[in-house]
Amino acid sequence: MTGIAVVRGMPAVPEAQAPDTAPARDLAQPKDLPAVDRLLREPAVAALLEQHGHALVAGEARTLLEARRAEAKAGALAPAAVALPGLAAALQAAVETRLAPRMRAVLNLTGTVIHTNLGRAVLAEPVLQHVLAAMSGPNNLEYDLAGGGRGDRDTLVEELLCSLTGAEAATVVNNNAAAVVLTIAALARRKEVIVSRGELVEIGGAFRMPDVMAAAGARMVEVGTTNRTHVQDYERAITARTALLMKVHTSNYAVQGFTSAVDEAELAALARRHGLPLASDLGSGSLVDLAAYGLPHEPTPREKLQAGCDVVTFSGDKLLGGPQAGLIVGSRQAVGRIRKFPLKRALRMSKLPLAALEATLRLYLRPERLAQDLPTLRLLTRPAAQIHALATQLLPAVAAAVAPRFDAAVVELQGQIGSGSLPVDRLPSAGLAIAPRHKRGAGRALDGLAAALRALPRPVIGRIAADSLLLDLRCLEQPAQLADQLPMLGQALGADTYGPPRGGAAQPSTEPC
Ligand SMILES: *Cc1c(COP(=O)(O)O)cnc(C)c1O
Repeated sequence: MTGIAVVRGMPAVPEAQAPDTAPARDLAQPKDLPAVDRLLREPAVAALLEQHGHALVAGEARTLLEARRAEAKAGALAPAAVALPGLAAALQAAVETRLAPRMRAVLNLTGTVIHTNLGRAVLAEPVLQHVLAAMSGPNNLEYDLAGGGRGDRDTLVEELLCSLTGAEAATVVNNNAAAVVLTIAALARRKEVIVSRGELVEIGGAFRMPDVMAAAGARMVEVGTTNRTHVQDYERAITARTALLMKVHTSNYAVQGFTSAVDEAELAALARRHGLPLASDLGSGSLVDLAAYGLPHEPTPREKLQAGCDVVTFSGDKLLGGPQAGLIVGSRQAVGRIRKFPLKRALRMSKLPLAALEATLRLYLRPERLAQDLPTLRLLTRPAAQIHALATQLLPAVAAAVAPRFDAAVVELQGQIGSGSLPVDRLPSAGLAIAPRHKRGAGRALDGLAAALRALPRPVIGRIAADSLLLDLRCLEQPAQLADQLPMLGQALGADTYGPPRGGAAQPSTEPC
């Protein structure tokens, strides 16, 4: 990618696209382009140089002129594209594009609340403020303010995690994948780990249990079958080389029908009889009982520890609603071994997410307020009727913006929690369905609409299903963030290039549309 200016989805130099049929004498030649220095001396560029300095502006100018030169050589450059005012404007656009962050806030209207591709959990406002306050200067990341000596970063959250899960000890790492690798490596390196064939999960982004075991340097011993595993299966596999029994939460799939799995309580009894530790990878792991909020129950670390697990691992940015983190809670002995394992240093949490994790965990100290204070829980518990009312309120403006080529309607939708939590449960939701009026070219029209939504200053991400673009409004907490962009969407749709179906508008269709 070069710095060729493309701002907000609009080509910066539409005049450069000469029609194929233009006679050769109407095209610019490479020699018509100014030198870099000449462009930089242009008055309109002076302000750019003043604001951003020579290095960036001159670099972008070089890239711009090289691109134009290549176009001219290819016989594809209109004379207007070599004129200084146009070049200055293109240079400004190129500089702005270059400086604009690639990571941007978007509107998640996919209906999936914890969307891995969209950054998973949204942090609470007080959490963001705490991160800002703690990061704006030095902090006591590893400094004991009481004693005045070296401290341990784990202690910032350990007591909180213990009180929220009932664990004796806790430690934290970069993410749950790291927590699992570290746990297995610390407890079972060069030894065997027994796991059910029904739990050999693959989580998106190349986390596959067999590979994780190998990466941790442990030998995986699979027992049972895909649908049924019994406690005797584990028992028969225990040898002198066994170091760990492992349970893995099947976060993103459900085995249904003739099934049987051994729960943690039964496995813990077996592990104790053989003097082995039992670890459970919960994946999401909610710190509260979601059933109390009218949601499907998701296993909690507290339950698993009470059942007798020595170690439980879970994510910070799934149902917990915090930053990316891997949480390891359990017995003093097991967590102590994990903390002392050398790999821990390589996987440790950085101060930014650690500050966010601590502030998020503190929200759990006021459980009565949690459904308001924690965005993840607030979004998950948002009543469908309220979302429906929001859709009704936004409908006229959305319909106006997408007209005349599309129709919009309020629809009932089924959302999901996401990020491998409760894969089969659906969240009753509501939103807007935007459908092309004409059946012909509908696929292209929908793709164009989705692209126009993504090209907005705050990109809007919906989903395409059943010949419509669906905007699930569960996660739209500030309607103005969508409403304020609708005029821009209307302009983009009015000016777009994919156009109405060729061969004339309003073809009578035999199919309902
Ligand atoms: C999500 C998940 C992981 C990976 O957690 P990250 O925080 O994404 O690294 C591991 N195991 C299970 C069961 C999961 O659901």
